[in-house]
Amino acid sequence: MARPLYAQVNLAALRANLARVRELAPKAQVLAVVKANAYGHGLLRVLPALADADGLALVEPEMAYLLREHRYSRRILLLEGFFTPAELSEFAQRRLATVVHDEEQVRALETSVLERPLEVFVKVNAGMNRLGFRPDKVAAVCRRLASSPSVAALRLMLHFARAEDDDGLVDALAAFDRACTGLPYPRSLANSAGVIRFAEVGGDAVRPGIMLYGATPLPYETAERLGLRPVMTLRSALIGVQDLRPGDGVGYGATYVASRPHRVGVIACGYADGYPRHAPNGTPVLVCDTPVRMVGRPSMDMLTVDLTDVPQATVGSPVVLWGEGLPVDEVASAAATVGYELLCAVAPRVPFVTSELAGVDLAL
Ligand SMILES: *Cc1c(COP(=O)(O)O)cnc(C)c1O
Repeated sequence: MARPLYAQVNLAALRANLARVRELAPKAQVLAVVKANAYGHGLLRVLPALADADGLALVEPEMAYLLREHRYSRRILLLEGFFTPAELSEFAQRRLATVVHDEEQVRALETSVLERPLEVFVKVNAGMNRLGFRPDKVAAVCRRLASSPSVAALRLMLHFARAEDDDGLVDALAAFDRACTGLPYPRSLANSAGVIRFAEVGGDAVRPGIMLYGATPLPYETAERLGLRPVMTLRSALIGVQDLRPGDGVGYGATYVASRPHRVGVIACGYADGYPRHAPNGTPVLVCDTPVRMVGRPSMDMLTVDLTDVPQATVGSPVVLWGEGLPVDEVASAAATVGYELLCAVAPRVPFVTSELAGVDLAL
């Protein structure tokens, strides 16, 4: 018998979430964001469910190369671009589109001789202050790139730092418009938060990530209300049950002490599986489809829950850590983080199961 812990990936839910993106942004091309191994879901595993996307976007060149090895033939955009000029010829051979966000990259494109020119997304720094050119530099960068033989087509790109706040959107859009005045190139603005608020945002190509995986990008809106379905369900089972007496502690550091007699269940999932160790007492868990609360600190291989509300629970009872029936966003919020982090952090020792085996036709 295997240890009772696995991540179930529901490809039908992923397809439905992609259809939801299309509904919200009917005129835009969709570049599905699959960085971080498709937000922890497994890039090759989810690929069949993304067949309807116009392309994919990610940050890891080696994963882009892998996609081409698997005969993925639509667009692939590298969101941080190339890291060394030597990668440019690899990009050209594989028809990879690249973000360009700094002077070094512009120079590399100007001085390289490539077997095929590249599609280039010029990244505007509209207030995030991570990557990108300041608005007043963008026109000059575009002029240089437009006359470079290594560049086949130009796009303008923005990444929102605060798409969830109204004023964050307004300021970034104003900076972007300033940067792009008079530049005739197609634009790519929206991440998931921007797609959800697409009417105000616009853009020729959208770049949804988290919403495809069925979690919310907005702190004030649940995934369910946004019409999104969870793709990953992290499932386990009870492997032990203890009867506590008043005064009994649970787990390392006894961060929970019982004040009344009750049962606790022990679940085969811990921080070495990617469950957040800093999740506090009270973090929600489902046992036998019933919401219960975590008690005590998660350890490397186990966590413990109060079974007061599930008298029928015994060793072997089914557990959901997050996913169907328990949004990852609720667990994340209890643990003072975001769904993104939990999904990306599922550890290599957790086996994955695909719950809807679509025909694996990678030659799209
Ligand atoms: C990660 C990323 C996205 C997707 O963001 P979500 O919030 O997951 O939708 C879009 N664009 C860029 C540049 C990114 O790095």
